[in-house]
Amino acid sequence: MTRITEILSSMDYGSAPEDTGIARDWLARHAGGFGHFIKGRFTAPADTFPVSNPATGEILAHVSQGGAEDVEAAVRAARAAQPKWAALPGHDRARHLYALARHLQQHARLLAVLETLNNGKPLRESRDVDLPLVIRHVYHHAGWAEVAAEAFPGAVPAGVCGQVIPWNFPLLMLAWKVAPALAAGNTVVLKPAEYTPLTALAFAEIAREAGLPKGVLNIVTGDGNTGAALTGHPGIDKVAFTGSTEVGRAIRRQTAGSGKGLTLELGGKSPFIVFADADLDAAVEGVVDSIWFNQGEVCCAGARILVAEAVAAPFEAALRRRMARLTVGDPLEKSTDIGAIVHPVQLERIRALVARGVAEGAVLHQGAAPAGCFYPPTLATGVEPASGLFTEEVFGPVATLTPFRTPAEAVELANNTRYGLAAAIWTENVSLALDIATQVRAGVVWVNSANVFDAAAPFGGLRESGFGREGGQEGMAGYLGLAAPRARRPEAVPPAPDALPVEGLPEVGIDRTAKLYIGGKQARPDGGYSYAVAGANGPVGLAALGSRKDIRNAVEAAQKAAAWAGQTGHARAQVLYYIAENLSARAGEFTERLRGFGAGAGAARAEVEAAIRRIFWYAAQADKISGRVPQTISGHLTLALREPLGVVGVACPLAAPLLGFVSAVLPLIAAGNRVVALPSQLHPLAATDLYQVFDTSDLPGGVVNIVTGARDALARTLAEHDDVDAMWYFGAAEGIRMVEEASAGNLKQTWAEDGAARDWAGPQGQGAAFLERATQVKTVWLPFGA
Ligand code: NDP
Repeated sequence: MTRITEILSSMDYGSAPEDTGIARDWLARHAGGFGHFIKGRFTAPADTFPVSNPATGEILAHVSQGGAEDVEAAVRAARAAQPKWAALPGHDRARHLYALARHLQQHARLLAVLETLNNGKPLRESRDVDLPLVIRHVYHHAGWAEVAAEAFPGAVPAGVCGQVIPWNFPLLMLAWKVAPALAAGNTVVLKPAEYTPLTALAFAEIAREAGLPKGVLNIVTGDGNTGAALTGHPGIDKVAFTGSTEVGRAIRRQTAGSGKGLTLELGGKSPFIVFADADLDAAVEGVVDSIWFNQGEVCCAGARILVAEAVAAPFEAALRRRMARLTVGDPLEKSTDIGAIVHPVQLERIRALVARGVAEGAVLHQGAAPAGCFYPPTLATGVEPASGLFTEEVFGPVATLTPFRTPAEAVELANNTRYGLAAAIWTENVSLALDIATQVRAGVVWVNSANVFDAAAPFGGLRESGFGREGGQEGMAGYLGLAAPRARRPEAVPPAPDALPVEGLPEVGIDRTAKLYIGGKQARPDGGYSYAVAGANGPVGLAALGSRKDIRNAVEAAQKAAAWAGQTGHARAQVLYYIAENLSARAGEFTERLRGFGAGAGAARAEVEAAIRRIFWYAAQADKISGRVPQTISGHLTLALREPLGVVGVACPLAAPLLGFVSAVLPLIAAGNRVVALPSQLHPLAATDLYQVFDTSDLPGGVVNIVTGARDALARTLAEHDDVDAMWYFGAAEGIRMVEEASAGNLKQTWAEDGAARDWAGPQGQGAAFLERATQVKTVWLPFGA
């Protein structure tokens, strides 16, 4: 007979498999195959493909491969339903979502078992993590539907949303996408992942049962081609995608210039930093919850463990002991820690990446895993920062372990990645934790915790982890917006600047060429060329013809001015006030300059006056840009901090050469960004006259850099530049497409709009919307309590 002491030492549990009856009954009801869910009903199954259980290989169902015509039908249904859904009072939409949440709660067991059968994740996770989060998300957003009109005054829904989700959290990702979209008054066409469409189809049935109006939610199943047909469909107003960086990049290119809103939640290779004073046992459990959660198929998993050298050996030993005790196997078994990898293709991908890591010198430590579509928990040591195992997203239960000596080295290693999704920081020293939290480049930071989520907390990344946030106020804002301004006469593409000599320049001293402004100094253009700036009565001066090299220099100068982001809002405000005062002192000169371009005396005076006021306004805002403390789960303080984007390229509109420049550049620097600005190509001298104003206003060199010349050629270089974090472009339609396409390289976020659409002198030219665009949210989780 087994003795209790033996059980305690082995901690083996008896078998306790989950009963799959309820999911089997549901599958049996659909034995004939699934069609798409369009306009409140399932279409006849057609062109089906099998969907299987990765743990056993058993075929669970047959699902239809959606073609262009299916996507078309779904988009049409969503379009037809959208005006009525949006016109419902928020309270009525809220009631629909409350009802949906209730029905999901009633069917939680079916959904959890189905998720585990189809995805391979342990039932314990689908039941205790995924489903509660799904339900919480729908309730939370029912609340947003109720209060959206007051919380987002004047905002309108995006329209019809095309949403494409991955296979790692099939139902949770659906809830993250569908709940805010519907709450905001949008209708949806969603494509689940090819491997894991079943809970989305069950969700559709449940939504129908809960009385969601027809056409509000549509699900089209299929593979990547179906996804591409959806994201490329001209009837879609907003695309929301979660998945790989590679596909995210393709979607960025595909949607360039289409006017579609876009949020991308992409891959990650997140650092998990353990300092010497951390509670090491807790940190070991943190790793279990991070990279060994959901088979490591988690975009924000702490895949790169960085540990202080002083505790690296005991930490590694403890981790390996813990790893050896993880149970890998039948996902339905309630004691299983790690289930099946979603598909043999993904298993092969993991194996190939690990094999490459070993070839590059990694030493593997692994737990046990049964035969089949399973992969053992793995710790890789001796991994060089340049190795593929350190840089590539594995999306499996594989972590690297790298020692560091100092906090500075930890930050350097943490930020040594193309990604920027999440980070975990383990230390008992709160000052150190917060110091590191501000330095790591990530959208989400967990202190002494990992993989904590809540519907009220914004989630999302930066750099190649994408842009946009899901959850909370920011997530809602992504599905709402003020109606974009429309140009009565769209901005034209300016003629190419002409570098040939001109006649009739006014007499203004020896060197009449306005230079570039780089790193706080006037700089001659690399090519040495200049172009004539036209005025009302012939040329009024020469401006430098900037080149790619000048842009690169300006970006480098802006990168070096990073200290600006660390200044207090008060300090930045002081500089901005000073700029406003100095511009004020020289208002007459600037008015004359604008008159030279052909503006009437009154209009020129008004533009200068408006520019001065605008600078004062952003100075006033500089110390008021603050985040929020969203209410999330108990025992956690969750901070939604607003951080600058970094280095931002700005292509200014042609008109309002002074006010347009000030309107775009000032909110960015007020928020702590550094800027490389391309002033109005036609009248750049209004901006180049600002050099002296900046020089006399204590603006640190490199915070504002100005490169004059051919706007679109220079904008392309900026949009392609990997050290530029965001791009604002106020120009013509062709340029918008070009900038959005070129931005796909490092997936920088863009704000591209017709330069003539805004009335720069009116309320549209200034406001909180600019400051919101100038910042991004970093969510920091701080647990408290014994
Ligand atoms: P994908 O990015 O290919 O899949 C995500 C979703 O996009 C799926 O629904 C997919 O369809 C669809 N899709 C594929 N191609 C296109 C396209 N051109 N246009 C629109 N939609 C498209 O990820 P994979 O499933 O192929 O996984 C590959 C790797 O991506 C993983 O190993 C992992 O590293 C990473 N990944 C990251 C995720 C994250 O959350 N950050 C989630 C999933 C994967 P289909 O299902 O047919 O492929």
